[in-house]
Amino acid sequence: MSGPQTIIVGAGLAGLAAALRLSARGRRVTLLEAAPAAGGRCRSFHDPALGRVIDNGNHLMMTANEAVFDYLAEVGALDRVTIGEPAAYPFIDTVTGARWTVRPNAGRVPWWVLRRSRSVPGARLRDWLAGLRLLLAGPDATVADCIPGDTWLWRRFWEPLSVAALNTAADEASAQLLAATCRLTFARGERWSRPVTVRDSLADTLIDPAIECLRDRGVEISFGERVRSMQRTPTGGAVSAIETSRRTLAVGPDDRVILAVPSWNLPDLLPDVPVPEGSRMILNLHFDATGHTAQMPPLTGLTGGVAQWLFCRDGLASVTVSAADRFADDTAEALARRIWPEVAIALGDRTMPLPAFRVVKERRATFAETPANEPRRPGPDCTVPNVLLAGDWSVRGLPATIEGAIRSGRMAADRIT
Ligand SMILES: Cc1cc2nc3c(=O)[nH]c(=O)nc-3n(C[C@H](O)[C@H](O)[C@H](O)COP(=O)(O)OP(=O)(O)OC[C@H]3O[C@@H](n4cnc5c(N)ncnc54)[C@H](O)[C@@H]3O)c2cc1C
Repeated sequence: MSGPQTIIVGAGLAGLAAALRLSARGRRVTLLEAAPAAGGRCRSFHDPALGRVIDNGNHLMMTANEAVFDYLAEVGALDRVTIGEPAAYPFIDTVTGARWTVRPNAGRVPWWVLRRSRSVPGARLRDWLAGLRLLLAGPDATVADCIPGDTWLWRRFWEPLSVAALNTAADEASAQLLAATCRLTFARGERWSRPVTVRDSLADTLIDPAIECLRDRGVEISFGERVRSMQRTPTGGAVSAIETSRRTLAVGPDDRVILAVPSWNLPDLLPDVPVPEGSRMILNLHFDATGHTAQMPPLTGLTGGVAQWLFCRDGLASVTVSAADRFADDTAEALARRIWPEVAIALGDRTMPLPAFRVVKERRATFAETPANEPRRPGPDCTVPNVLLAGDWSVRGLPATIEGAIRSGRMAADRIT
């Protein structure tokens, strides 16, 4: 392939989405990734303790994630997700043993909140109405400013939703970002609110098919190649060369560079671009629950304890705890011992002894999704003329998710073509 090339730095979902769009439009693409494999914060690996492939963390998508579905269609992986249809979110309170299922109805009028069989037991209409304040929130409001944190409904609906969507505690999380999530999903009705999970692994669904598709299109992909610095022209400041851990790549006048790296890595390459400050941890605990997951839905909300969401598939019970920085220094053993009893209750046998487990601490899972960080998200453009930015952190108005990452990569690619 000849013609101007685009060098994409970072083979997470943003970089992959940019590479897919550019290569589909006949553009010459080189994809450089520092890690030995693609996927970034959305990856899978073989774990010897469990003797199977696991994900770095459970990832929930929803049917409202239109960019995700376009991406899956493009790489031929639409059959590699599980869609909960009709939308249903079962919950278990691990302290009281109470169980309920949130079932949004079709259409935009959310009458499901008033039906006992579809809503959170014990929630009053006026608690739900408080959620309207979220939709009207200003740019500086936090989730806690809009929804009172001392209600039944808070603990049983808003908190699990908010912490999962924004990976940031409610007293500092942006209300507008949570409102954006609600507008795209629950506020549009059941069809847009269905939970989507990967069938086998993140790599099998979201990463490997994309790499295969890119290779078929002639994209040069290099793993284990970290970009260390970029040379700039004295006049205009455009990037003229990229120094990697292996070579120097010339960047011609018509070439473009997309930096699809996390916000915390960008200053190493472009110190003069402002980025969101701070990040938040997500904790995942994977337990061998062979023989105990067959009756479990793929996804269950857990309240009352530390565990927030339980993902079950094929003998594996995996727990997610978002905004989990308070656990950063705890040992894996201590965390597993603390959280396993909650999982055992959810699985229906509180006497089960602690099985084999793997704890994954993603200390920088997402940037801190606070109101103050929203204006620091630059979009695809930056002050360097031939450089574009992508990544889940870069696009304003969207939480740091797979959907946001894919959209950001496409936006950067669209600027080029
Ligand atoms: C535990 C966990 C749970 C999550 N749960 C969900 C969820 O339920 N739903 C959801 O939608 N999202 C979830 N997310 C968020 C989602 O994973 C991210 O939003 C998305 O993967 C970000 O993709 P990205 O391409 O923007 O960044 P990344 O995936 O971070 O990709 C950036 C890539 O750039 C590479 N890189 C960095 N610097 C350089 C360099 N100098 N040279 C070369 N390469 C470089 C990195 O190695 C990395 O591969 C979760 C994230 C985590 C960690």
